[in-house]
Amino acid sequence: MTDIVDPATRSRMMAGIRNRDTAPEMAVRRELYSLGIHYRLHNGKLPGRPDIVIRRLHTVIFVHGCYWHRHPGCRLAYTPKSNVEFWQRKLEGNAIRDIENQARLIEMGWRVIVIWECEVHDRTALRERLAKLLGMESEAEGITE
Ligand SMILES: [Zn+2]
Repeated sequence: MTDIVDPATRSRMMAGIRNRDTAPEMAVRRELYSLGIHYRLHNGKLPGRPDIVIRRLHTVIFVHGCYWHRHPGCRLAYTPKSNVEFWQRKLEGNAIRDIENQARLIEMGWRVIVIWECEVHDRTALRERLAKLLGMESEAEGITE
């Protein structure tokens, strides 16, 4: 499989930098805002440091990069061609850690929503999905740009 990212992006990904305020995260925040949902960001006291915390709805949202967090079946979640074993182990470790953190959050009474980076490009679909997940379907219908 050919590389689908440019060398700079690739080296950032390989360096394992955990980006804050990424474009996919901003997209999700924008739709939450337009739904009138109040949230807080990056709560370090909660397992896995959720990207978005909606306390009133006991809900946390992770906005996951498909590559780094291993989106099942996603074309962005390919395995690098060099150092295959190393990367497989590392990336599987990420995915396992995600599952563990989510299980802990659920035990603590949080509802956990995961939005993948490949799912944020269709704004309308994203907003409708968030509205549905957050139980505000009726309000969402009337929203216009
Ligand atoms: Zn994906």
